[in-house]
Amino acid sequence: MPIFAQISLKPEVHNYLKDVFLNKEILAASGLKEAECRFQRLLMCLSHPPAYTCVRVSTHLAPLEEIRQKLKEELKKQIYGPSTDEAAVKILPHPCIPDVLLLPVIGPRSVSQLSSEVVVGAQCGSAVLRGAHVFAPGILATPKFMKSGDVVSVFSDLEGKCTRGAKFFQGQRVFLGNGVAEMDRSTIFCSDKPVSGLGIRMVESLYQSPSFDGVLPSLAFLQNLPSVVVGHVLGPRPGERILDMCAAPGGKTCHIAALMGDQGEVVALDRVRNKLERIRQNAQMLNLHCIKAYCFNSTQAVGSDPAQQTEGPPFLPESFDRVLLDAPCSGLGQRPNMASTWSLKEIRSYQPLQRKLFHAAVKLLKKGGVLVYSTCTVTLAENEEQVAWALHTFPCLTLQPQEPHIGAEGMLGAGLSPEQLRCLQRFSPELSWDQTGSEGPAEPPTPLPCTANWDTIGFFIAKFTKN
Ligand code: SAM
Repeated sequence: MPIFAQISLKPEVHNYLKDVFLNKEILAASGLKEAECRFQRLLMCLSHPPAYTCVRVSTHLAPLEEIRQKLKEELKKQIYGPSTDEAAVKILPHPCIPDVLLLPVIGPRSVSQLSSEVVVGAQCGSAVLRGAHVFAPGILATPKFMKSGDVVSVFSDLEGKCTRGAKFFQGQRVFLGNGVAEMDRSTIFCSDKPVSGLGIRMVESLYQSPSFDGVLPSLAFLQNLPSVVVGHVLGPRPGERILDMCAAPGGKTCHIAALMGDQGEVVALDRVRNKLERIRQNAQMLNLHCIKAYCFNSTQAVGSDPAQQTEGPPFLPESFDRVLLDAPCSGLGQRPNMASTWSLKEIRSYQPLQRKLFHAAVKLLKKGGVLVYSTCTVTLAENEEQVAWALHTFPCLTLQPQEPHIGAEGMLGAGLSPEQLRCLQRFSPELSWDQTGSEGPAEPPTPLPCTANWDTIGFFIAKFTKN
């Protein structure tokens, strides 16, 4: 059962994506063979984790080097054991992003499968491949007599077909590594509702990367590298008023507040009420006080009556110095993702919603302000096509170069000029993978900046100013 299969997609989605990566502009520029190869590499690398674990550190609370040393001590103690050789814990400062530490992910390693199998859901499986242990709610099937202390092999259910409480599962699954049960089967499935807590402690994962559960919670925050880049590209300054339109769970909101030295106001909106608590918890954990979070549909966030203005939404036009629209999207850049059960209709549903949000974003931004639009997907429709549409629809917007710009430029296919494409930042993991398209990254993870910068999740960033 190879883990190194390509991501499994519905045929209609596969064909749609193939058309994106083999569009006319790309074929004219690079030819069919290279375009096909890039597409195959994309499908392959999406099912693998990125080459580095990225940690954003709270430089508003302590200097980077101090946090790096503390993290090293914690990881030596808690994860690898006190006798761990200092050199075995590699934590590298990012060469140009001042609040990022990178930990190389080691793998895939050769791990022998055992006869006792535990099956977990796909989301839990992806977290395990990035260093997490298995928490009880993610467990779908265990051996009939599994007891705490048993050593088991952990698999991820590829097609979402394993029923909760099953004793074995013969469907499509991939091996993730071995672990030790922390609960009996009877405890895990004791009621209709999943119990909380650690279910399986992973001891031999296919990909070795530390679990950050409870490690320096106020100083070290796990965040994908492109997401950290977003905060820097937005460039918030102390004292400004910033709007984060789609904010939960608040990773970028907190980064923005930290970059402002907690001085000013960051308004965080999200439509889903129970996700708001995560924003508040993260802000509290990171010791940030300038964040105000509201449950609100951001497409409705523009108010018109000054008399009805309260502290929260809706807001009058031109209320914010900078606006971040980290849009809800099809998420096809997320890694590792071994299987997506999404239909084409679902994937295509995001473009109109993103445009409604964009209308509100432009209205709420002050003249001279900065708007950053980002997604964690790889389609043209949600990325470069949105930029072309925005420039056409809002003559007041100007596309801006980004700093830092560590990803690739925008992708061909939406009719943007070479200069416009250079302003865009697309994180395209397939570009860092071996040209043969089958063996994974060309070299084992090394501190090469280009591997760290490119072997990330798929992501897109555009920056505009309003004239
Ligand atoms: N920016 C977040 C971070 O860095 O942690 C991630 C945001 S996630 C990509 C998109 C979010 O948009 C989801 O939490 C979703 O609930 C929210 N959302 C979707 N539609 C929305 C709307 N109309 N108004 C506000 N939030 C919305």
